[in-house]
Amino acid sequence: MRSMGVYIHIPFCVRKCAYCDFLSMPAERTRQMEYVRALKREIAQAAQRYSGRTVETVFFGGGTPSLLEAEEIAEILDCLRAQYQVDADTEITLEMNPGTAGADKLLRLRNAGVNRLSIGLQSAVNAELALLGRIHTYEDFLRTFHLAREAAFSNINIDLMSALPGQSTAGWLCTLGTVTALEPEHISAYSLMIEEGTTLYDNLETYPALPDEDEERHIYQVTKQFLAEKGYQRYEISNYARPGYECRHNSIYWQRGVRHTADYVGFGLGASSTVGAERWRNTSDMERYLQQDAAIELDYNSQKTERVCAKKTGHNAIREDLEELSKDDRMEEFMFLGLRMTAGISKQEFEDSFGIALEDIYGDVLRRWTDRNMLIQQGDQIRLTDAGIDVSNVVLADFLL
Ligand code: SF4
Repeated sequence: MRSMGVYIHIPFCVRKCAYCDFLSMPAERTRQMEYVRALKREIAQAAQRYSGRTVETVFFGGGTPSLLEAEEIAEILDCLRAQYQVDADTEITLEMNPGTAGADKLLRLRNAGVNRLSIGLQSAVNAELALLGRIHTYEDFLRTFHLAREAAFSNINIDLMSALPGQSTAGWLCTLGTVTALEPEHISAYSLMIEEGTTLYDNLETYPALPDEDEERHIYQVTKQFLAEKGYQRYEISNYARPGYECRHNSIYWQRGVRHTADYVGFGLGASSTVGAERWRNTSDMERYLQQDAAIELDYNSQKTERVCAKKTGHNAIREDLEELSKDDRMEEFMFLGLRMTAGISKQEFEDSFGIALEDIYGDVLRRWTDRNMLIQQGDQIRLTDAGIDVSNVVLADFLL
């Protein structure tokens, strides 16, 4: 029986951060309630296709999932449990922003089965948080973190962002020092990307200067070293964990090329899925997503027409960009997702998966980057070197067929 990782998108935020180009927006409570109803129906509908499967991981991402009531998160999880096999040890992560959940809500989330929190801090420096347009201060974060510990969350990730306007290596190390003193189990450290259409992009000249390329690379290098000294091992280009606390959900995604038995199913607005060799994305149009809700409600009221209507207006109606992955697509993915992991990829697994030796497809590329000390081969394993990780975008792009 195939298993799956489930992603659930909650697209609501208090307000838009200056750098954000994610699918997220502020919304009234009534809209949020409508959305939760639509989500539960989408999950129930999809059961026709995935029923009986084991759910290895659930990830509530956003947006700000912690804006929903704890009872709504519980209802969504109950809906999943009613349709699929969700075990007691299934990793269930909820992304949250500091200040969006008090002691009581955190306790109720924990009781609902959420067992991992991912808290978006980004920086421990209040001036940087203000520049980014975040809704919270460092002190708000600290309160949330301690309340989460009191609510028995023993697996917490903290999201950080480097290469911020005006940031120096010393400033970044200050954030890392402050955060590691709290001893979270996991730290994600991404560089700020300036995306078109964001407030930051449109007003970049009004912000302090961004770190130059050398400083950015230096920040990246000291991050690994600093976190290793504090007991956090890098297991993916931007992710660090204490032993045993690597994010299982993201690992399913990065190892998808290897683990053919694990699918990745996304529910909610704009969520992406890969099931077998099929890939699609849900509509990003909220009205369309909610209309699907109305259509399915009609189906429930009319048992007779349910199956016909479900086919025409249900789960399929909100899917866009449906594509069938070719063997080349899957080989590329095997390489550029697998090489994001510091453990790298196995030549034998490649051959077992595709029926052809890795050298026969990628011999030249492997030689090119190994000669330049960007890749290293040790027995059956191939992985990026530290220098290769610094320029991973260039190296990984070379694996496109
Ligand atoms: S909290 Fe996250 S999703 Fe929401 S606006 Fe900020 S960056 Fe975007």
